[in-house]
Amino acid sequence: MEGMHFKCQQCGECCKRYYVVTLPGEAAKQAELKGETERDFLKNHTRLFLHLFAREYSEGKIMVSNAMLPKRICDAIEAEHGFLPNFFIAVPALVFKREESGYCTFYRQGEGCTIYNARPLECKCFPFISIRPNTDYKKEYPFCHGLEYRDEKISYVDMSFLHFKQMRKYCDLLREKGFTSVWKAWPNKGVVLFENKLAGEIGEEEFLGSIAGLK
Ligand code: SF4
Ligand code: SF4
Repeated sequence: MEGMHFKCQQCGECCKRYYVVTLPGEAAKQAELKGETERDFLKNHTRLFLHLFAREYSEGKIMVSNAMLPKRICDAIEAEHGFLPNFFIAVPALVFKREESGYCTFYRQGEGCTIYNARPLECKCFPFISIRPNTDYKKEYPFCHGLEYRDEKISYVDMSFLHFKQMRKYCDLLREKGFTSVWKAWPNKGVVLFENKLAGEIGEEEFLGSIAGLK
């Protein structure tokens, strides 16, 4: 059964839990909505984001070796997970800044998402952004009450696949053109995650050095 009843309650529970990736076409619309140039928008509201996953070396993917990462990031990964992979699949991206409370910078209490009409696909698809088969969404996202409401039946497989396709397209573009050609501007600080867990902060030079293997 791939259909599922769902109705987003716009409660904002997902807006305080995750780093949200914005993609090049999306950021232009978000900047327009905020009345800012895309450059200012990216510098003011985003952080660098390097998401790493342990994998064997694989052609056709964005790969980062541990020798390219700052030592303190490698140390943090090893301390947390008990091992340090030689290679990682990497997703270098830009994410929205978050408040100390965890909330996305565009969330306002009582108002909700202030860029709702231009919010990223990731937000539109949530919680159906996992492509793992047989995900128990209610167990994985117990805070998401949209899953308790009976509304139009949606295909979570279609939504997950849409999200997956968009991320793959973005990674292909990075491989083809390089991070600094894909983005008009970027902030000077950010974070590294390994398998969804924070591994530490990273500066612009370190970030670009880590993905120097890209064109
Ligand atoms: S997707 Fe779920 S958690 Fe997020 S705002 Fe909608 S109901 Fe709340
Ligand atoms: S962009 Fe909007 S919907 Fe997405 S996390 Fe931020 S506040 Fe929530």
